[in-house]
Amino acid sequence: MENLEKQLFYLNKDDLEIVKKAYFYASCAHSYQIRASGEPYLTHLVSVALNLAELKIDRSTIAAALLHDILEDTLVTEHELIKEFGEEIVSLVKGVTKINKYQFDDNITAQAENWRKMLLAVVKDIRVIIIKLADRLHNMRTLKYLSPDKQKSIAGESLTLYAPFAHRLGIYKWKSELEDLAFEILYAAQYNQIKTQWEKRAESNIQNLTAVENLLKEKLAPSGIAFRITARPKNLYGIYKKMERQKKPFSAIEDLFGLRVITDTVEHCYAILSIVNVEFKLLEGSFTDYINVPKKNMYQSLHLTIISEDNVIVETQIRTEEMHQRAEYGVAAHWRYKRKVEGDAQGAKEDAKNSTAEGRLDWLKQFLEWQRETTDSNEFLDSLKTECNFEQIFVFTPQKKVIKLPLGATTLDFAYAVHSDIGDTFMGAKVNGKMATIDAKLRTGDICEILVRKNIKPSVHWLEFAITPQARSRIRKYLREHGDNTTKTKIKN
Ligand code: MN
Repeated sequence: MENLEKQLFYLNKDDLEIVKKAYFYASCAHSYQIRASGEPYLTHLVSVALNLAELKIDRSTIAAALLHDILEDTLVTEHELIKEFGEEIVSLVKGVTKINKYQFDDNITAQAENWRKMLLAVVKDIRVIIIKLADRLHNMRTLKYLSPDKQKSIAGESLTLYAPFAHRLGIYKWKSELEDLAFEILYAAQYNQIKTQWEKRAESNIQNLTAVENLLKEKLAPSGIAFRITARPKNLYGIYKKMERQKKPFSAIEDLFGLRVITDTVEHCYAILSIVNVEFKLLEGSFTDYINVPKKNMYQSLHLTIISEDNVIVETQIRTEEMHQRAEYGVAAHWRYKRKVEGDAQGAKEDAKNSTAEGRLDWLKQFLEWQRETTDSNEFLDSLKTECNFEQIFVFTPQKKVIKLPLGATTLDFAYAVHSDIGDTFMGAKVNGKMATIDAKLRTGDICEILVRKNIKPSVHWLEFAITPQARSRIRKYLREHGDNTTKTKIKN
């Protein structure tokens, strides 16, 4: 707890008390459990909380991280947990537990986008995904204790499902690490090859980099602008992807390392840019202004490529501290940064607000608000909205294929969405193993099995049960071509 407490310096005393309570509660509940590594289970929970502390995330998320496996792995009930910790923390824990219940299969690559949408639809609170990412990061770091098969499946899931989530949320630090850990397991040969070559070049690269860094410091010093410089190695999976994409050998990849100049204000970013422009040779066409025109995920920086006196290419980024935090930690960074600059009074007010149930922090809402106030480029916002569109549901086939449907869709809609022939011969449906009617409305996460019979034909009544355009037009088409049996019968009588 001492170690964790140190990393939670940004929390106030009351918040810390709740985290401590969660810690002791979890340590009792999990006391008999041991991880595959032989360590007590508590080490996993603390590691997940430590990962989240990096984001300076709110106390409820940290507490939920410490409790995230409690409903699944111990005898503690939801009722007890609510009594101890309240609805907000427990709803986060339940969200994580819910995600863990979904078994991802080997088709995950093809279906990854649908899975991600489904998870977003299921959890509703983006903090659940962030806890899951922190959980996955620690599991990936300690994967070597599991069987090779298990390693492969968890790594695959991390690469196709969770790393893109981290990317979407702008948590690049986690994204890079998840990718590299998965890369090592899934493509061991390529990983080792690139790693060896990377290490060979690292030594000379670092020398060159240091030379450029020192020169940069020297040239910027007279301006009196406050700045710091960090070196940035590209992640190995990123290098691999670039080699694949551009069909280039490792030796042709130039931007293995880069420099970041971090300063306090946007004005100073441009002031540094103008000094660099005068003092260094730049690669032609290398300048991109992501401050004026941020990327979709709100990333901002000035990008340029310096050519050193020894003709070494150094990709350079200039950004403010706030932009840097956002680039590393994404949406989470903004929230904490905003609180910091708004000062103590506002912070205290927010703390008071957050500690009440009504004032429950709605992370996503905050995020969306922030988007509105900071940018005209709504592309990212739109895509996120689509992903969080609760007008959509995601239903599984028994083979675990995800089918996307509009809210209110029935088993008949589902049948047509799987295949028009299945729709046409619809006899009945089983939802989560139980018989369901033709007009039963499906919900996200349902597993739906369609029963068919060859001699069944669509009838005009089916139009009352189908709401998707796809199903309706197919039924109409059939009725146009074949007439309606039921009507015919009626006419006969
Ligand atoms: Mn866990």
